[in-house]
Amino acid sequence: MPELPEVQTIVSELNRKLKNKTIKTVIVNAPKMVAVGPGTVSNFRKADKRSADKFISLLKVQKIVSVKRRAKLLIFDFSGPLAMLVHLKMTGQFIFEDKKQRAITGGKYRLLNKPNAPLTLLPSKHTHVIFYFTDGSILYFNDVRKFGYLKIVRDDEIDQVKELLEYGPEPLGKKYSFIQFFTAVKNWNSKKIGIKQLLMDPKFVAGIGNIYSDEILFHAKVRPTRKVASIKNQELRKIYRWIKLVLMQAIKAKGSSVGDFIRTDGSVGQMGKFHFVYGRSGQKCKKCGTIIESVKLGGRTGSFCPNCQK
Ligand SMILES: [Zn+2]
Repeated sequence: MPELPEVQTIVSELNRKLKNKTIKTVIVNAPKMVAVGPGTVSNFRKADKRSADKFISLLKVQKIVSVKRRAKLLIFDFSGPLAMLVHLKMTGQFIFEDKKQRAITGGKYRLLNKPNAPLTLLPSKHTHVIFYFTDGSILYFNDVRKFGYLKIVRDDEIDQVKELLEYGPEPLGKKYSFIQFFTAVKNWNSKKIGIKQLLMDPKFVAGIGNIYSDEILFHAKVRPTRKVASIKNQELRKIYRWIKLVLMQAIKAKGSSVGDFIRTDGSVGQMGKFHFVYGRSGQKCKKCGTIIESVKLGGRTGSFCPNCQK
């Protein structure tokens, strides 16, 4: 599942590539992927053909002003009083193609980051929404699992979007100070949960999932299983510091291509090379040589070095 650095990578690329482009037509192959209005889009929703038709007609001749991010939600701002909110969930992908890009790739992409993944010609059976722009360029939205969504809201409805209201602070925001982090930890309603679980709670802080919580805790030298109440102030300082450092490094490396995450030109993010513990269970710690262990934590797996992390 893409986390903050992966979503930021996509947002930065789309903002650069789509700014000032005008939508000519939109094709929706899977009506359940799209919605209109501020209501919550459930993972178990049904297809609504009428809503898909409305989605298409609202987007016609809309010009893209910018593409931004809040937590893991992409926000496409249009020249009209509309915005499109996109959540990639588990396996959502955007691929942008103009003439130059098609000449390089022949329209084929490796949509899974596995050595033997086949080259797939787009649109594929997993391409659910296609945006055609007036200059001939195309944006494909692929999603194997179909949990992602694209939702259109009016500018005056944005304040009613529940996802946006519930997100915790942006970890890389200037306003996210140590005091704010520290106060949130101390006031958290349950201190019996593990620190990894707390970091992954989007209400505590936005955009941190399985990959980066593991990496942050490795650098901070704290085991993922430690209960929040047991963590010393000095350790909290380290965790806070490494939240910022790990996420910034991951954005610089264009994210971690784990599973389905690929960039908008089909290339892969490089952050995986810098993973110390995530996905490395059974391998040697890069710092001390001890074998990395993993532990089940509320349905997720946490990986850690039993020597480096206390
Ligand atoms: Zn170690």
